[in-house]
Amino acid sequence: MSRDLEQLWDVCVVGGGPAGSLAARQLALGGRKVVLVDKANFPRPKACGGCLGGVGVDALESVGLPLQRLPVKSLPLEQLDIRCNQVTASLQLLRRRVVSRDELDAALLARAEESGTHVITGNKASLGIVEDSARRVILHDDKHNGFLRAKLVLVAAGLSAVKDVCRGVESLTAGYRPHGRFGLAASLPTADDGYAAHRVTMACGRNGEGYVGLVRLPDGRLDVAAALAPEAMNQTRRSTQPGKTTATGLVERILNDCDLPKPAGFDLANWQAVAALRRKPRRLGADRVLLLGDASGYVEPFTGEGMGWALRQAVDIVPIANQALENWEPKIVDAWARRHWRIVGRRQTRCSWICKFVGGTRWTPHVVRALTIAPWVASPLIRAIDQHS
Ligand SMILES: Cc1cc2nc3c(=O)[nH]c(=O)nc-3n(C[C@H](O)[C@H](O)[C@H](O)COP(=O)(O)OP(=O)(O)OC[C@H]3O[C@@H](n4cnc5c(N)ncnc54)[C@H](O)[C@@H]3O)c2cc1C
Repeated sequence: MSRDLEQLWDVCVVGGGPAGSLAARQLALGGRKVVLVDKANFPRPKACGGCLGGVGVDALESVGLPLQRLPVKSLPLEQLDIRCNQVTASLQLLRRRVVSRDELDAALLARAEESGTHVITGNKASLGIVEDSARRVILHDDKHNGFLRAKLVLVAAGLSAVKDVCRGVESLTAGYRPHGRFGLAASLPTADDGYAAHRVTMACGRNGEGYVGLVRLPDGRLDVAAALAPEAMNQTRRSTQPGKTTATGLVERILNDCDLPKPAGFDLANWQAVAALRRKPRRLGADRVLLLGDASGYVEPFTGEGMGWALRQAVDIVPIANQALENWEPKIVDAWARRHWRIVGRRQTRCSWICKFVGGTRWTPHVVRALTIAPWVASPLIRAIDQHS
């Protein structure tokens, strides 16, 4: 453990995804002594569709970091094509962009470091005890264990946060049960395979088996991201040819059912999987700890909500973190929970309905057909998800 880490930090941020990096930057710019720990070395791969919603675009602009200043290449995302069987309903999207996830996360982490945040990568962190008005954070790398102390810990460690980072804190782990579909994603090489830029194609499965989203990245690669029901996997396992992984077999089947081409490079891609995408911790913090980003609860990917919510939370947690640093009180967790509800609560509920619908209900084919005639019916829903409060 280096000497620097022995000092008492104002804030330790665990996780250098969009939530952690932006929160660290904002706090460091406000004069706080901030350390950020991530288990990965950057740039790191992340299962993601690369769609950034209006909430995220606005959050970045509100702190003077529009995508072109980060700088991160992006394309406007103008249209959502929902495809069920052989029918496509096209809906207009507002203020959405497509980005390469590796590039966005690396740029945000670099901006955090530039603002004075001390960044430690390649170290896994977990919460330790509270003593002398500070929370210990235990660090592990390949060879060593050590710890640092911070007046406040922001846990922004994504979907694994509660089980992994918070495992010693019973008030956060008790009754915590991730459930729901699992995620699968890969970036496929540039090819002329029928998937145009500026639109996301959402292929609906049948009978709740899940959905597959495809979007062209600014560098020409095609991002494929899916949410798949474990039960559908079991059925596919029985029917796919030996040697083919069942998850990608299911993605292929959904594309085939929707009469969409199998993208070039599909079989050789480096697929990343994420288990049980739905999570909700009972509380959004504990003594000198606050959770944000996916760590604070997640529904399922749709078309750009996760990153947007993570970035908005990173901006909105700053005044609450400052209050916690002046005088920690348990009611700060409740204040954060109220703010959090205003940022994501209702939107997550709406998103869960949409995810259920695109995952294939018996109504999906009829609604998609109706949307081809009256696409404007969906506009209020898309606007409600995309606008920040
Ligand atoms: C298949 C799939 C597709 C998706 N597509 C989209 C999309 O198109 N658009 C969108 O907006 N969202 C999408 N999402 C959701 C989006 O990826 C997340 O909502 C977003 O990454 C949340 O950001 P975060 O900062 O909270 O966490 P993350 O981005 O997950 O970052 C967490 C960080 O914490 C680090 N970490 C984890 N454990 C530890 C530890 N113990 N110690 C130290 N560091 C740790 C990790 O290395 C990681 O860098 C998708 C998700 C999935 C699964």
